[in-house]
Amino acid sequence: MSHFCPSILPEDPTPKDHQSCQECGLYTHRSRMVWGEGNPSASIMVVLDNPGAREDREENPFLCGTRQTLQLAANEVNLKADELYITYVLKRKPTRAYEKEKTRHICIRHLQDQLAEKKPDIILCLGNVAVQSFFKKPEAEVKTLRGSWHEIQGFKAAVAYHPLAVRRRPNLWPSFIEDWKLVADRFHRLEK
Ligand code: SF4
Repeated sequence: MSHFCPSILPEDPTPKDHQSCQECGLYTHRSRMVWGEGNPSASIMVVLDNPGAREDREENPFLCGTRQTLQLAANEVNLKADELYITYVLKRKPTRAYEKEKTRHICIRHLQDQLAEKKPDIILCLGNVAVQSFFKKPEAEVKTLRGSWHEIQGFKAAVAYHPLAVRRRPNLWPSFIEDWKLVADRFHRLEK
């Protein structure tokens, strides 16, 4: 039985020149910006749709279900927390209706800058929103793209279901782990 216990990963602070970004209008939703979490120099970049809260309503550190499930899967395939950098298409969590396509189109420029700077060896997109945004294909779906490697914008990319989808539908766990294993196998080969 695994004794692994997910933890709150260190936050990669938002660069000073982006801290007051109001480019897409999501700043009016009043969720705080999260630039990334984990090891900023990691060779695996995990891309999610947007960050969940890192603090609860009383401002105490909080580990959301997405982060728990993500870390459980990584641990299951022998990836350590410091081998991952986790970031988002949107750097703020939307809290009400918004113009999805337009907002993603604006904020993803920050992710493009992160890619140019960090040059990760491997990208893992979790969930349809991350896949559609990163692959620049509005009709792309995890269920048809998962299980193999894709060459996107010069990066090796794999895809898997969103951790929250896996929490809601535990029957997705085996394929979620398969996709994480694909990533781990490539990473461990690169490390040799
Ligand atoms: S979500 Fe992105 S583009 Fe919008 S205000 Fe935040 S950092 Fe700027």
